[in-house]
Amino acid sequence: MAKIQMTTPLVEMDGDEMTRILWQMIKDELILPYVDLKSEYYDLGLKNRNETDDQVTVDSANATLKYGVAVKCATITPNQARMSEYDLKEMWKSPNGTIRAILDGTVFRAPILVKGIVPYVNNWTKPITIARHAYGDVYKNVEIKVPGKGKAELVFTAEDGTEIRETIHNFDGEGIIQGIHNTKKSISSFARACFNYAIDTKQDLWFSSKDTISKKYDHTFKDIFQEIFEAEFKEKFDELGIEYFYTLIDDAVARVIRSNGGFIWACKNYDGDVMSDMVATAYGDLSMMTSVLVSPSGVYEYEAAHGTVQRHYYKHLKGEETSTNSIATIFAWTGALRKRGELDGINDLVRFADTLEKACIKTVEDGKMTKSLSLISTCENPVILNSMDFIKAIRSTFDELY
Ligand code: NAP
Ligand code: MG
Repeated sequence: MAKIQMTTPLVEMDGDEMTRILWQMIKDELILPYVDLKSEYYDLGLKNRNETDDQVTVDSANATLKYGVAVKCATITPNQARMSEYDLKEMWKSPNGTIRAILDGTVFRAPILVKGIVPYVNNWTKPITIARHAYGDVYKNVEIKVPGKGKAELVFTAEDGTEIRETIHNFDGEGIIQGIHNTKKSISSFARACFNYAIDTKQDLWFSSKDTISKKYDHTFKDIFQEIFEAEFKEKFDELGIEYFYTLIDDAVARVIRSNGGFIWACKNYDGDVMSDMVATAYGDLSMMTSVLVSPSGVYEYEAAHGTVQRHYYKHLKGEETSTNSIATIFAWTGALRKRGELDGINDLVRFADTLEKACIKTVEDGKMTKSLSLISTCENPVILNSMDFIKAIRSTFDELY
């Protein structure tokens, strides 16, 4: 069969450790034999980030703004141990943070469901996608440990010197205070990314906060979502038969547990941090979570939610066999290729991506899987495969379906 031709390049961001090894295997076995891959390649491996003073990360994000779709491999976020391991000039920032700041994006995480891996919440038959606002609140807080008696105030000074002042508390002993903020711009971007992604994936959108208690802070989030929805998205939602609704976070938690899934749950920064770990765990396994960064202008960057799987990489370096699950990384590729196909009107590329995803799921449902999946699968006699043989098994399932 002739290879599928592409018209616009995909921004390809290579990464680190075990996922870098998987990246090459996926390309060689599952992509390049079928697609005449047109990609603009950026090496975000830590060695190259260090050599380019992290310019490569900035360049890859700008290329994503230019072309509209990127696929990213997991990357190391340096810490003290990595400084000596890679002989770094600086403790470079998290690439995901740098890219997110340039794209002004929101991260959407969703599990990949397969028969045999049953969510802890057994009525969750469809995926729940969590959208986490990634700016401000407690993550950019200012805190004071109050040493003793005194008055704490909240003061805003405008450019012209006028003040708004509120008493927080009159302390009669030791205590603590915290100042947090957010911006209309960031909340609006978050809202637009959520509405766009709901339209894109034809799913309902829920947004929750605690506006009954936080009558200005959380209430502003609620108001911004509502205003943007009515002004820019309501018509399209009606057309598609999907729904946006706001509810209190307590009510949302109760409804989520009773639901069948199949919607997007938009959360404030802290709520999203906590709830995404809860939802991911309840669905089974981090290696089955996908992640996509969506900008308010509709630019997409696809990746796996897990990291570089460092422990497996060290085994691999020692020449030992690994059984690392490549499914989330494969889904990053299929997500990006499908989006490229949709934007460029290349139906074959869309069909290729759909079929490759089906092949991943069918391979696991047929009982062929990696070690960590076999531990949570209800499959009677799973065949446990090493990293490469699992990818080869997916290829042979793909060839049957394609
Ligand atoms: P990790 O790479 O997600 O791995 C943690 C553990 O989860 C692994 O040791 C493994 O457990 C299991 N696991 C994760 N993905 C798996 C897969 N595909 N197949 C099988 N098992 C899987 O997290 P980490 O070890 O804490 O972090 C390693 C590096 O990744 C760090 O340098 C961190 O900065 C980076 N990181 C990058 C991203 C990103 O680029 N988006 C996200 C998170 C972390 P067992 O060892 O028990 O088998
Ligand atoms: Mg967390």
